[in-house]
Amino acid sequence: MRGESPAARAPYDGAMPELPEVEITARLLDRELRGEQIESVLAPGINALKTFEPPLAALEGKRIEAIRRRGKHLILDADGELTLLMHLMSAGRLQLYDKRAGPRDRTSRLLVRLEGGRELRLREFGSKQAAWVKLLRSGELEQDHALATLGPEAWPEPPPLAELLDAPRPLHALLRDQRTIAGIGRSWVDEILWGAMLSPFKRGSDLDEAEAARLREETIGVLGGALTHYDQSVSLPLPDKLPLPLQVHRHEGEPCPRCGAILQAVHFEDYVIAYCPTCQTEGRVLKDRRLSRLLR
Ligand SMILES: [Zn+2]
Repeated sequence: MRGESPAARAPYDGAMPELPEVEITARLLDRELRGEQIESVLAPGINALKTFEPPLAALEGKRIEAIRRRGKHLILDADGELTLLMHLMSAGRLQLYDKRAGPRDRTSRLLVRLEGGRELRLREFGSKQAAWVKLLRSGELEQDHALATLGPEAWPEPPPLAELLDAPRPLHALLRDQRTIAGIGRSWVDEILWGAMLSPFKRGSDLDEAEAARLREETIGVLGGALTHYDQSVSLPLPDKLPLPLQVHRHEGEPCPRCGAILQAVHFEDYVIAYCPTCQTEGRVLKDRRLSRLLR
């Protein structure tokens, strides 16, 4: 299995794990580790651990009952009614290693050492240290603020979107708002809106019934399609960089796979939205606010 890779060389590409990436991580690790016994758990360096009771030592000797996903969170259930709730944030990965982390590994936020020598590691690349972990009693999990505030799952069976998105906010912001619908981030939102042929800046409250139905169908299809792709192309050990099957996001300047028009990008806050002007905005190229400010 994979050896040490120092933080400086980590090939992190800035893709934040979203529903498909977290789901494939949970599926593969669940299949591999269900029933494994935990030897010890450590949270080295800058402490990503946000809880202190029960202590991590409570996991010693416990067995892994399941590894699963809720929204963009990973959940590790252990016997003894204990649950680790983890959020990878923008640059984290949960990966399984044959060997234990060396003392110079600065990317690890949580080490779950298993009987037999393997180690499950929550690693974080990049300069920000934002990934977090909570150890909770199983009964407290659903009441934890992080899960209690989540909207319904975007996949596999989201509720009808007309009501859910009925707000005067742009679709790209609504779909990424975890309190509205859970699991979608800045990569997959571009793919979903392109698939549904809707402008990222159309307001949720302006969706008609047919558009809302189409958007729901694309949400299920795009996220499910990504998962099918990962199921066929990814196995353990999970790579640092998953092969995201994106067609639109980060493809600005290239021809639209549907109509051949050149995909455009618009900067919004600190990120970039890609879209097809022909398929999504009636030919209009959306104003790049940063650029228009410079030209004024
Ligand atoms: Zn197009």
